[in-house]
Amino acid sequence: MQDVVEKVYEQVVARNRGEAEFHQAVREVLESLDPVIAKHPHYAEDALLERIVEPERQIMFRVPWVDDAGAVHVNRGFRIEFNSALGPYKGGLRFHPSVNAGIIKFLGFEQIFKNSLTNQGIGGGKGGSDFDPHGKSDAEVMRFCQSFMTELSRHIGPSTDVPAGDIGVGGREIGYLFGQYKRLRNSYDAGVLTGKGLAWGGSLVRTEATGYGTVLFAQSMLATKGQTLEGKKVAVSGSGNVAIYAIEKAQQLGATPITFSDSSGYVVDEAGVDLDLLKQVKEVERGRVADYVSRRPGSRLVTEGRPWDVPVDVALPCATQNELDGDDAATLLRQGCAVVAEGANMPSTPEAVEAFLGAGILYAPGKAANAGGVATSALEMEQNAGRTRWDFATAEEKLTAIMADIHDSCVAAAEEYGRPGDYVLGANAAGFTRVADVMIAHGIV
Ligand code: NDP
Repeated sequence: MQDVVEKVYEQVVARNRGEAEFHQAVREVLESLDPVIAKHPHYAEDALLERIVEPERQIMFRVPWVDDAGAVHVNRGFRIEFNSALGPYKGGLRFHPSVNAGIIKFLGFEQIFKNSLTNQGIGGGKGGSDFDPHGKSDAEVMRFCQSFMTELSRHIGPSTDVPAGDIGVGGREIGYLFGQYKRLRNSYDAGVLTGKGLAWGGSLVRTEATGYGTVLFAQSMLATKGQTLEGKKVAVSGSGNVAIYAIEKAQQLGATPITFSDSSGYVVDEAGVDLDLLKQVKEVERGRVADYVSRRPGSRLVTEGRPWDVPVDVALPCATQNELDGDDAATLLRQGCAVVAEGANMPSTPEAVEAFLGAGILYAPGKAANAGGVATSALEMEQNAGRTRWDFATAEEKLTAIMADIHDSCVAAAEEYGRPGDYVLGANAAGFTRVADVMIAHGIV
């Protein structure tokens, strides 16, 4: 990294001790900015880089709640309002025991550039809690969500900060959160949250958007080589919202997804994933991947290793950060994988990213490939503001156009800065310059 950029990185590490994921996310972006700053030195003036790595506001709060047996629990809540240059803070809420300030900060930082790439006028933010919804009753999840929103409601609003879902936060949680917000504010501000139910302000295609968008991005990358997804074998990790709809779109485009996973292991189904069964197990029953295997002859559960051990043409990591390391990347490459599109946020470690870039395969970082979710959230906000509702085909058409535009912006920026085909540089440079130009226009704030 150039001196000026290296200094900013060192300051981030010194100021945010122990936040390894945040350091990792910042490093990746700053490294990409070397050629950008070399060509346009004004981006390093007026402490712009120092400002962009510092959240505008960090909120941390106590979330007390009562379980079904009457015992009191205390979790920690977070909302990081990172950057509002382009619009209200926008980004999901994650409920998972691994959540801490560093995780939320890395996700919020990534969100700035992702949201910029969508060109939908949304700033970057993220939030969540170390609460684990697994194994909790609906009533417990509801009481937790109500307590969480009691504090969060002071900080959010349709023009201020608009949270959505992420790991552990789906339609059920968004419903409880919205119900409590409405009660506290005595106001039906549908635009305060996205990922809502269709009967109360949600948008068609929001559920599918992240997974669909990831696969559409992979398809666009393949098109640059005159190829399609037709007939390709695909490894998917995760079995949540993103994974399920990545599998669905891959199947629609003629590919054959053969794996999915959760924290108990991964499933290989060489005949191709039975999507109806997977949805039944995961979306309806909230079960584990083993429940799929017990009902699907020919599939098997593997509890050691990762889905990346299975020979495929395309890999779609859709579970969580750092779930694909340098060894996994080497295995994928050795077995002929030529496309990686990230549905999850930062699922590949720096070593894996280096291996993909070194091998010159089609590799799309999450901030570009999974931007379809937040882009469709912005479409949900647009429908809420206009008190209107688009049909599925209209919303999907808009998502498809946005993903194509993000793809083309990445390609153009990678070419402009001298590394054609490098989607990491392309995404970071295109996302950064749009935010940076607006920050400069707004003055020192
Ligand atoms: P879900 O909660 O719906 O699903 C998460 C899936 O990943 C589950 O199968 C879960 O298994 C698995 N998983 C989570 N943490 C771990 C872990 N530490 N180890 C192994 N498996 C794990 O979340 P989403 O599908 O919404 O999110 C998945 C990824 O996509 C995340 O990185 C998220 O940030 C990203 N993303 C999501 C968007 C969205 O619109 N939902 C938008 C953009 C990005 P288990 O149940 O066993 O924990």
